[in-house]
Amino acid sequence: MATKHPRQQLFVEPCEACGDDTPHDVSISIVTESKKKANTEFSREPYRVTVCSVCGLQTQQRMNNV
Ligand SMILES: [Zn+2]
Repeated sequence: MATKHPRQQLFVEPCEACGDDTPHDVSISIVTESKKKANTEFSREPYRVTVCSVCGLQTQQRMNNV
């Protein structure tokens, strides 16, 4: 069994670098983006950040790109 992580869960997902399914640390990161330079309106976009526990490759994926 893997070591317990109190706040992070390990998700087994495919890793491009490893070329295999590996355990990933998954966390949610809120990134502030400016949609337009002329507009002062900012949007906060949630990103799903996964880090491969084997090779350390970090992948960010926007969550609301429907
Ligand atoms: Zn990997």
